[in-house]
Amino acid sequence: MASVKTRIIAIMNQKGGVGKTTTTVNLGHALAQAGYRVALMDMDPQGQVATSLGFDNTLPGLDQVLLEDKAIDDIKINARDNLDVIVAGSRLNEFEHLSSGGIQRGHKLQKALQSSSLNQYDFVLIDCPPSSGLLGVNAMFAAGELVIPVSGDYLSLQGLSRMMQILKRAEELAGHRIRLWLVSTRMQMRRKLTEEVRKRILKYFPGRVFYTPIRENVALAECPSFGKTIFDYKKNSAGAEDYRSLALDLINGRTADG
Ligand code: ADP
Ligand code: MG
Repeated sequence: MASVKTRIIAIMNQKGGVGKTTTTVNLGHALAQAGYRVALMDMDPQGQVATSLGFDNTLPGLDQVLLEDKAIDDIKINARDNLDVIVAGSRLNEFEHLSSGGIQRGHKLQKALQSSSLNQYDFVLIDCPPSSGLLGVNAMFAAGELVIPVSGDYLSLQGLSRMMQILKRAEELAGHRIRLWLVSTRMQMRRKLTEEVRKRILKYFPGRVFYTPIRENVALAECPSFGKTIFDYKKNSAGAEDYRSLALDLINGRTADG
């Protein structure tokens, strides 16, 4: 049965190391295990979504979609039950530096998604690079929602106001509203600073911060090197528990302030 509406969600933050890829892969697998049909798209030329799932990033991927107009349906790979992946591919970086194509360049991903069999998915999660270049713009134009992982260190607050400017501009250019969510990641629960960061984002983004904070958990850091998600690797770990709970937040729109 076709979805009522596919939720297309970009996982974005210009800061590196905040847990974008970890969240894309593990939130995606949690949703798939809850019975939803999910596609993961890797818009980061580093290609870590592929490797985190045990695939080779030199397979044909979004590089061919964006550079050579290949169809998404022809390159998607089934990664797990209910979970497909569209890898970055080895040439995705070239797209970021493309100077031809004018304003249409920003809408390439959106167009490619529209001409794919998108309605077979409940969720499409797009892992974004830590930059606000053409790849990020494509992700934002294609997405109806944005999830911003905010890690529990003080510096992670600094990029947020710039992120808000970019979002506002993207909404103007894309001509549609983009729903915003924040998720606390890499939380060291007993640390004062971590608590402080969480308090701040709750204050500045009322109604937009997901209920579940993702704790710092060693199994989450280990599993990508085995090509495994946290559910393949340690399904009873704190990391698995947190991402299962975050999936429920996303499904139900559950936030920290109710
Ligand atoms: P980004 O995609 O934003 O650059 P990653 O998801 O790659 O960030 O995470 C950066 C590093 O931190 C990786 O080594 C990852 O395994 C680790 N990491 C991310 N989230 C957690 C967590 N909750 N607990 C422990 N390590 C984490
Ligand atoms: Mg990443």
